Amino acid sequence: MTPPVKTASLNPLSLKDRMKVPRQQMPEQLPQVRATNFTEVNLGYSAELARQEALRCLECAKPACTNTCPVGVKVREFIQLIVAGDFLGAAAKIREDNVLPAITGRVCPQEDHCEGGCLVGKKVQSLGIGYLERFVADYEQQHLDFRTIPKSQPTGKKVAIVGSGPSGLTAAGDLVQKGHQVRVFEALHEIGGVLVYGIPEFRLPKQIIREQVDYMRAMGVEFETDVVVGRTVTIDELLEEEGYDAVFIGTGAGAPQFMGIPGEHLNGVYSANEFLTRINLMHAYEFPRYDEPIVDLAGKHVAVIGGGNTALDGIRSALRLGAAKAYVLYRRSEAEMPARAEEIKHARQEGIDFRVLTAPVEFLSDGGGWLKAARCVRMELGEPDSSGRRRPVPIPGSEFDLPLSVAIIAIGTRANPVVQSTTPGLGTNKQGYITADPTTQRTSRKGVFAGGDIVTGSATVILAMGAGRRAAKSLHEYLKTGVW
Ligand SMILES: Cc1cc2nc3c(=O)[nH]c(=O)nc-3n(C[C@H](O)[C@H](O)[C@H](O)COP(=O)(O)OP(=O)(O)OC[C@H]3O[C@@H](n4cnc5c(N)ncnc54)[C@H](O)[C@@H]3O)c2cc1C
Repeated sequence: MTPPVKTASLNPLSLKDRMKVPRQQMPEQLPQVRATNFTEVNLGYSAELARQEALRCLECAKPACTNTCPVGVKVREFIQLIVAGDFLGAAAKIREDNVLPAITGRVCPQEDHCEGGCLVGKKVQSLGIGYLERFVADYEQQHLDFRTIPKSQPTGKKVAIVGSGPSGLTAAGDLVQKGHQVRVFEALHEIGGVLVYGIPEFRLPKQIIREQVDYMRAMGVEFETDVVVGRTVTIDELLEEEGYDAVFIGTGAGAPQFMGIPGEHLNGVYSANEFLTRINLMHAYEFPRYDEPIVDLAGKHVAVIGGGNTALDGIRSALRLGAAKAYVLYRRSEAEMPARAEEIKHARQEGIDFRVLTAPVEFLSDGGGWLKAARCVRMELGEPDSSGRRRPVPIPGSEFDLPLSVAIIAIGTRANPVVQSTTPGLGTNKQGYITADPTTQRTSRKGVFAGGDIVTGSATVILAMGAGRRAAKSLHEYLKTGVW
C-alpha cells in the first residue's frame, strides 16, 4: 500500500474515517421511466454529494489514479480543491491535462483506469472519480465566463487536425494552448466524432459536447465541418498549398464490420454504425419531425450482436424506440464483455435480456426480404485466443431460432481508407490502420502525426485522448526544432 500524505490536507476526516464514508450514489432516472426516453440516465452530483464523495480520498503520495489515467489527470489535487469548495479551481486543475472533462466524466471506463487504481477500492468501493470529474466540469460550464479563458502568445505556426473525435479535439486543445493556429477539419456536419454520432443522448447529451467545443472555440481552435480530407482536400494540399506546418490525423475507425453469415443482407439487419448514426446524428428517434426513418420498432423483437459499449448503446436505443423484447447476443460470457460496468448494470435494470454464450449463424427471411428470426448456436469457452480471452466454441447440435424483426451488428469496426489511400508514403499495417510511433505518434510522412482509433483500432475515448496528447507534445517539438 502507498502511504497517504499526512500534511497540507483540508480534509477534516482521519484516514480511518474516510474509509467509513460510503460511496455517494449517482442520482439517476428510474429504470422504468428512462427506458422510454432519451434524456440522460445519470442526473449528476449536487455540490453536497460531491463534497461528501471527495472526503473519501486518501490523498495518496503516489496516486495510482493519476498514473493509470492515459492523460495523467491530477486526481488528488482536483479532489482536494473540491474538499476546499473551490469547484472552478478543480475544473481548471483537470483542464491542465484533459480538455474534455464533462465527456470523460461521463463515458470513460473509470474502472479500468483511475478508479481501478484507487487505493480506497482495494478495501471498499473506490472513490467516484468519474462522477466528481463530471460534477466540476458541469459546474464550470454553468459558472465560468468564457471571456476569461486566456489566449496563448501566437507562434505563427499552423496545424491541421483531421477528424474531430476525442483524439483530434485533444490534440487541438493542447496545441492551441502552445500558441499554434489550429484548424479542425471534420467530414460530418457535427463536431465530436463517435461522441456525437455513436454515443446516444441518454449517456452523453449532444449539448454537453457542444459546450465543450464552444470552450475550445473560446481557446482559439477553429472548426470546419463537411470537409472530407482525401476528397475535398488532400493531406499534401494542406501541407504544400494551404500553408499548414504539420497535420494530425485522428479519423477513427468508423467503417462497419459484418459477420459474413447468410441473411445479413435482409431488411431489418443494420450495422450498429448505421443504426446509431441515424438515431443520433440524423434524429431518427424524432421521426417524422426529422425526415430520417428507421424501421418502426414499436412492439418488435430486436437483438444486438456484440458485447461492447456500441452494442449496449444500440439495444438501449432500440428499447427506447419501443422494442417489446430487446436482447444482447454475445458469444462469450459476461465476464469478457468489454462494455463499461455501469452500462451493463443500467441495461440490466432497464430490462435488456442478456443471452451470453450465444451467437447467430444465419438470419432467416420471412420470404419477402425481411428478417424473421436469427438462427443461433450456443457456445462454451475453450482455450484463450490471441486476445488473451477464452475462445468461444460452438456446441454441436445446440442451434435454435430466435424470432426477430431487427438485428443490429455491433462486432467491431474497421479503418476508413480515404486518407491513407490519398496520401502517398503514409505507412499502414495490413488491416489498413495508420502506423505511428507509440510515443511520438509520428507517421512515416514528415510533419504528419496520427493517433486514436485510426492507429490502434477501436479503443476508448481516453486512450484516443492520450494519443492526441502525445501527438501534440511531439508535434510542438517538431514545430520548435524542425527535427523529424
Ligand atoms: C457507439 C459507441 C459507443 C462508445 N462508447 C464508449 C464509451 O462509453 N467509453 C469509451 O471510452 N469509448 C467508447 N467508445 C469508443 C470511443 O468512442 C472511440 O474509441 C473514440 O471516439 C475514438 O476517438 P478518435 O478520435 O480516434 O475517433 P472518432 O471518435 O471515431 O472520430 C473520428 C472523426 O474523424 C472524422 N473523419 C473520418 N474520416 C475523415 C476524413 N477523411 N476527413 C475528415 N474527417 C474525417 C469522422 O467523421 C469522425 O468525426 C464507443 C464507440 C462507439 C462506436
